[in-house]
Amino acid sequence: MIHPSHAPLLFETRAGILCIGGEPATALAERVGTPFYAYDSRLIQRRIKELRDVLPSRVQIHYAVKANPFPPLLHRMAGLLDGCDVASAGELEKSLEAGFRPETISFAGPGKRDAELMAALQAGITVNVESAGELERLTRLSEKLGIRPRVALRINPDFELKGSGMRMGGGAKPFGIDAEQAPAIIRKINALDIDFQGLHIFTGSQSLNMEAIIQAQSGALDLARTLLEGAGLPVRQINIGGGLGIPYFPGENRLNINPMGDRLHHLLEDHGGWLGDAHLILELGRFLVGEAGVYVTRIVDRKVSRGETFLITDGGMHHHLALSGNLGQILRKNYPVYLAHRVGSPPEEIVNIHGPLCTPLDVLGHKVALPRAEVGDLIAVTQSGAYGLTASPVHFLGHPLPAEVLLDGEHE
Ligand SMILES: *Cc1c(COP(=O)(O)O)cnc(C)c1O
Repeated sequence: MIHPSHAPLLFETRAGILCIGGEPATALAERVGTPFYAYDSRLIQRRIKELRDVLPSRVQIHYAVKANPFPPLLHRMAGLLDGCDVASAGELEKSLEAGFRPETISFAGPGKRDAELMAALQAGITVNVESAGELERLTRLSEKLGIRPRVALRINPDFELKGSGMRMGGGAKPFGIDAEQAPAIIRKINALDIDFQGLHIFTGSQSLNMEAIIQAQSGALDLARTLLEGAGLPVRQINIGGGLGIPYFPGENRLNINPMGDRLHHLLEDHGGWLGDAHLILELGRFLVGEAGVYVTRIVDRKVSRGETFLITDGGMHHHLALSGNLGQILRKNYPVYLAHRVGSPPEEIVNIHGPLCTPLDVLGHKVALPRAEVGDLIAVTQSGAYGLTASPVHFLGHPLPAEVLLDGEHE
């Protein structure tokens, strides 16, 4: 029986040792201690270049900060991308500190508090308004502060990104303004003193189906045209969402982005008239940083229980909830895990890898085939650059935080 395998490793190895940014994982572990997250900035740069090479120049790339807000990484992204999307006043502050210019930042999220809206107004960023009530609150606060708000409307489309890991558009949703309710709000905007930017149409996340992604982008542009053509509003930007996924599990493959680039060139021609010189925005988190990050943890115990071998590590779900399968997965599947100093060696045994928490949920790998691993060895988990530490219950059981490092390849 042939088992499906994980997508090929993007990191280099030297004498079987996994290297991140050119630095061996074993040396990194000595330098920063375990557990740790390491992000390879060259892989991020390569990914962005691949996108730029296929995208029309009028399509801008924004970074969804919630995927990974590690300040050095965010600073790097500010130098590489056209803007970012934040989901809280905290992320806004970090993004400004990282060097993103206010006019390139947008703020989406279903429950923006007054203090957050005021922070957005004062910073001069674009607020992606998610409801009629939020628009009212924002205009009231802007009058109070004497600041003209920059506004885009987030639309909950009447379709969704098929095959996406997490559906965030279509049906009844807490996100955005239903497409059916949008015309009434758009008519009202004409009478308000706001700096209207355009629309934000996010249809889903973590899709590995390029045809579905293309259809969702095309659908987003059609919807934007239906809502805005002839509405008498300036159109400066249409955020057509993102949704590009990365391969996490056996049998999943990397996306080929060429067809998306081709299609966007055609779409921009088709929509040339009403769009004027507005630009399109792709907002991506996971696709930009997910494959550039590795989580590394040390084996602290090796034991056998009723015939199964367990490797117990010093890191686990408190640092990496998604790895344990508890961040929205319905059926837990294994991430790619490697014995960090013997990558490429043939497997010698089947093991369960478990973190230090006193809960059966703290699983790093279930029935994984690995070379023989001993106490003190390192386990490396790839595909860990997005929704890792930032999406994990770090206070659970009171273990220390892991180190985080951004590597530029200066160790070669
Ligand atoms: C989470 C989110 C993203 C990023 O999704 P990825 O799967 O990380 O690319 C983009 N836009 C919005 C509105 C989001 O909520």
